[in-house]
Amino acid sequence: MTELRGIGIGRGIAAGPVRRMPDPLPIPEDEEFTGDADAAIAQAQAALDEVATWLTEQGAISGGDAQGILEAQALMARDPELTKDVATRITSGASPERAVYDACLAHQRLLEGIGGYLSERAADVADVSARARAVLRGVPAPGVPESDEPFILVATDLSPADTARLDFSQVHALVTRDGGPTSHTAIVSRAKGIPAIVGVNGADTLSDGDLVIVDAGAGVVRVAATEDDIAAAQVARDAWLASAGSLTTATHAGGALKDGFAVSLLANLGSVSEVAEAVALGAEGVGLFRTEFLFLDANAAPTVAEQQAHYTELLSAFPGKKVVVRVLDAGADKPLSFMPSAHEENPALGVRGLRALRAHEQIVRDQLVALASAQRATTADLWVMAPMVADAEETDYFVSLARELGIAVAGVMAEVPALALVADQVFETADFVSIGTNDLTQYTMAADRMLGAVSSYQDPWHPAVLRLIARLAEAGAAIGKPVGVCGEAAADPQLAIVLVGLGVTSLSMVPAALAEVRATLVTVTREEARERATRALTARSAAQARSFGSS
Ligand code: PEP
Ligand code: MG
Repeated sequence: MTELRGIGIGRGIAAGPVRRMPDPLPIPEDEEFTGDADAAIAQAQAALDEVATWLTEQGAISGGDAQGILEAQALMARDPELTKDVATRITSGASPERAVYDACLAHQRLLEGIGGYLSERAADVADVSARARAVLRGVPAPGVPESDEPFILVATDLSPADTARLDFSQVHALVTRDGGPTSHTAIVSRAKGIPAIVGVNGADTLSDGDLVIVDAGAGVVRVAATEDDIAAAQVARDAWLASAGSLTTATHAGGALKDGFAVSLLANLGSVSEVAEAVALGAEGVGLFRTEFLFLDANAAPTVAEQQAHYTELLSAFPGKKVVVRVLDAGADKPLSFMPSAHEENPALGVRGLRALRAHEQIVRDQLVALASAQRATTADLWVMAPMVADAEETDYFVSLARELGIAVAGVMAEVPALALVADQVFETADFVSIGTNDLTQYTMAADRMLGAVSSYQDPWHPAVLRLIARLAEAGAAIGKPVGVCGEAAADPQLAIVLVGLGVTSLSMVPAALAEVRATLVTVTREEARERATRALTARSAAQARSFGSS
């Protein structure tokens, strides 16, 4: 058995055959096509036909509502207007691939322009385009692979939209070449409680059908396992599932240390559909509601009424409890089509988060108005915060805008190291600070959270990150304002102890992590947590901090 190493997410284990997620197709080159135009037109036509036939077959297999949807999509692939447009473009000098790409894009824009139901069909045309171009290239169609048996999904990386389409009864583990411990693949795997290993050097060598064991606790993918190895791994998986299940069903007291010192344990959510699970797992409220996840597929900015409905449903689920909502965090890893940005060489360092909202102020105004009216309709304790805030001036801007539009409690996320360095100034106006350790680590360590090659830097245990957190916690304590953590760091039980020791007052995490963090916090007193934090701050590396801070 060979072994591939990466960063394990969670402690789970899974085994089974690999299914690879094909990489997205590149945009075809826009260069003069000099081949035989008639043959090229026939080729493009045949590719579209093949896609239409496949969609119809899939519809027949699925039945129910899906059949109607897939048949409608097959009709799009056979649309005479589309095929005519493809032929015209080829005659004017486009390659078959480029002609399919451009014709479908024009069709998409047309549908989007009409609006309403038809604009939602634009994504179906984009899918037809990608499938037909894959046929022309002779490569597998992009998108989540289908399978009748459970499998291990291997990908370069997964976007939020990809992960939204995964069927976790079939996908037993995720392995990605890129991505670090705070990438969206990692976030989703924690949320779903399935093992993942990200930043796996050599993930590209895995092929469909390879039998692998994914041991997230060890951060290892074992390749070419025998049937016996797989059977042993299945036994380990059952034991892991059973122990995770018993922690989850234990009674939920509020989060507290051994000496009774209370630490609120809150949930990170991205949609209202996740609320029931969070409540069942004992979330004491919501520490981060990622509103951009509601609108990832939207082509137009959401209306006040539409948003108000979402937020009212969310707040109604937490009567009398704290719910921290983050205004849209668009850009970099979370692009929103209704807030387009110019091409940027380094999107993570570009116009994102609050910077993007300032450039589209009406969008954040509408969002704050919708939040304020949802608050008035419910009894939840709504707190609102802005992402990617760099300093006191930006804090003042957001807090005064939020107050003007009726938000009672307004704060900022600490994700940019600059904000931590001026934390005392920030607290002059912010009601609270919530530390986004995913981005704070990315920017402190200058390591792209999406890039596997630098994933070893993406470690929130790094003493540089811990020192910034300590600074924020001290500034909050000095003025008596709360400082929470809502990045993935809060979901690491040992790190959670250190964060509390540093002075953090609440921890927000994927609901699946609540049980283990709760069970770990009660094993230490506040004094012990402080001692661990003090030791971790003196470490010379993330690994040393982890070892100093874990006992
Ligand atoms: C963070 O950066 O830690 C955070 C919570 O925000 P997101 O992961 O959505 O960027
Ligand atoms: Mg962030």
